[in-house]
Amino acid sequence: MIAPARQKPVFRFAPSPNGPLHLGHALSAFLNHDMARAADGRLLLRIEDIDQSRCTPEFEAAIYRDLEWLGIDWEKPVRRQSEHFAEYSFALRLLADRGLVYPSFMTRGEVKARVAAFEADGNIWPRDPDGSPHYPPDDRERSTEERLRLLDTGMKHAWRLDMRRAIAEVPAGVSWNETGDGDRGTIVADPAIWGDVVLSRSDAPSSYHLSVVLDDALQGVTNVVRGLDLYHATSVHRLLQVLLGLPQPSYHHHRLVLGPDGKKLSKSLGDTGLAELRGEGVSAADVRRLVGL
Ligand code: GLU
Repeated sequence: MIAPARQKPVFRFAPSPNGPLHLGHALSAFLNHDMARAADGRLLLRIEDIDQSRCTPEFEAAIYRDLEWLGIDWEKPVRRQSEHFAEYSFALRLLADRGLVYPSFMTRGEVKARVAAFEADGNIWPRDPDGSPHYPPDDRERSTEERLRLLDTGMKHAWRLDMRRAIAEVPAGVSWNETGDGDRGTIVADPAIWGDVVLSRSDAPSSYHLSVVLDDALQGVTNVVRGLDLYHATSVHRLLQVLLGLPQPSYHHHRLVLGPDGKKLSKSLGDTGLAELRGEGVSAADVRRLVGL
């Protein structure tokens, strides 16, 4: 009997071209590359450029240069999220048909003012793991008629997941398999900690959460390897995967490369930028050492 061909594991590195890559990205790219090699798997590169106001072709070109310099090879063609808005809109419509999303109209400033007024009396407004306040309930509680009337005015709006309804759709709960540098094993997801997350923004017909989940499924990604800063976001990703009937990858959230101040590196920190290091004569092997590999 001929054994069925084994499906190769699929890994992906998914940077956003909104700034130069730094040592933190190098660690992530190396780990994806090394883990794909060790598993005889495939490595994909995805350009996460839904935020067209901050992403540029120059930063994208710089990503390719930096990765080539690091000795990382990836399958072509590269998936560029800005070329796939139709898929994200379709998935949003599926969720809307089930009453799981609603249009939200409050600006960031309005939310801030609401939270400040509430907290002025000594109350505590719930915040998500990134420290942002949960979106107020007003828009979620509107009638269909009111929603239509507001949409009809042409007011700017985002589409948000009605978290309570979404969670109620999966009474058995959601979990994921984690192999990274934090907690390991079966992790019980807690999407409620995020409140009503944005799935489609007023300036882009998708959001990070929605597009990452759809792309991982559409690209057949089996192993998500990314920084621990996205560990909690996995709760939302798993919930969306279950709601949309998408396969479940396994997750490996790796340690972060911290700056001298002990904080996560940011794209504005020039001295840890890969192009900068290359210009100073640092080699790819040196970068491996610098990130502790
Ligand atoms: N685009 C995200 C970033 O640059 C990574 C998304 C992911 O790996 O899921 O931080």
